[in-house]
Amino acid sequence: MLRYERNKIIGIEKEDDHTLIAHGMLDDDIYSIQLNVTISLDRLEILGIEGWWNRWTTPGGPRATELLEKAVGCRIEEEGFSQKVHKIVGRQACRHFANLLLECCHSAGEASLVIRWEEAKKTDKDLSLEAFLKGDVSRKPKAAPAEQAEEECPVESRPLEPAPKKKITGGTLIDLHVHTSPASPCSSAPVDQLIEEAKRIGLDGICLTDHNYVWDSEAVEKLGKEHGFLVLRGNEITTDQGDMVVFGLDKDITGIIRLEDLRKDVLAAGGFMIVAHPFRGFLTFNIGQLGLTPEKAMERPLFKQVDAVEVLNSKVTEDENNFAAEVASGLGLPVTGGSDAHEVTEVGTYATRFAADIQNEQDLIAALKSEDYEPVVFRKQ
Ligand SMILES: [Zn+2]
Ligand SMILES: [Zn+2]
Repeated sequence: MLRYERNKIIGIEKEDDHTLIAHGMLDDDIYSIQLNVTISLDRLEILGIEGWWNRWTTPGGPRATELLEKAVGCRIEEEGFSQKVHKIVGRQACRHFANLLLECCHSAGEASLVIRWEEAKKTDKDLSLEAFLKGDVSRKPKAAPAEQAEEECPVESRPLEPAPKKKITGGTLIDLHVHTSPASPCSSAPVDQLIEEAKRIGLDGICLTDHNYVWDSEAVEKLGKEHGFLVLRGNEITTDQGDMVVFGLDKDITGIIRLEDLRKDVLAAGGFMIVAHPFRGFLTFNIGQLGLTPEKAMERPLFKQVDAVEVLNSKVTEDENNFAAEVASGLGLPVTGGSDAHEVTEVGTYATRFAADIQNEQDLIAALKSEDYEPVVFRKQ
């Protein structure tokens, strides 16, 4: 019988009013590593890292401690932080150190929130953690100007859009995620106005993805002809594991369906399924998700059931979009963008640029399966 144990311990110590020290230890039958990370409380910036290999089995081992130094100066809540750590520490040296460092930093971030909450309670003793998080606009350290950030961090920060493998030019630019009124009760956008606006701002097409609503294919074709514009059908379906935008599925689904069952339907229909805004609300108000790392998120079973991940959606925060992009890139899943417009002026905020020329629903599904597309920021308010 094989017995294998792994222990990971993270401890946070408040050194003084301005400094936290995160202690991390990972110990299993193969590795034993230890980290001390000094982090400033006001900017959540890494001031120093010490690392030790207590035991190692790979030749890459000892080098990791030197490379850890390169993460000094990074701010733990800045855009693309975990990607930087993976790049600096993980890919060049050791992913165990990278993961432990990230866990230390996430825990320090959580601790800093609790410290700030305690502080705020001095003036308002009934302040709940939830109310504090909602009102705490100062939670994030102010972003430093771009050049300054470059100086501070050895790796360039990630752009808002996930870096495409190759830049697609031409092709077809489609907003894949749009809600119309009255088909979606939460939308105030009459379909005709929405189409006209999409046309006016220079999109090539839109997909009507009303909630659990199957558009009649002839009605949609008629709309396209009337407006001289590419109008396609999709459907945003509520599942037990979040919202899915599906294409090529005519089945009328009401209520909440199990993702597994929806997956079977989509496969049987030869359709395509994109998980919409997979981390909506996760990084702002959901205290239970604090400390969620892209690695942990990648293990969510839902990602095994979807064909692509929506990484640009205007109804979530930039951090949530970036987090989704990190998870998708870690999993090697294709990524899309869509506005999730519920108002006329929101259409085209984000879109997806396809390399292919798309004229109808079949073209769209084939293009989605080709994986030759990229999410784009088209009209960001
Ligand atoms: Zn949704
Ligand atoms: Zn939606």
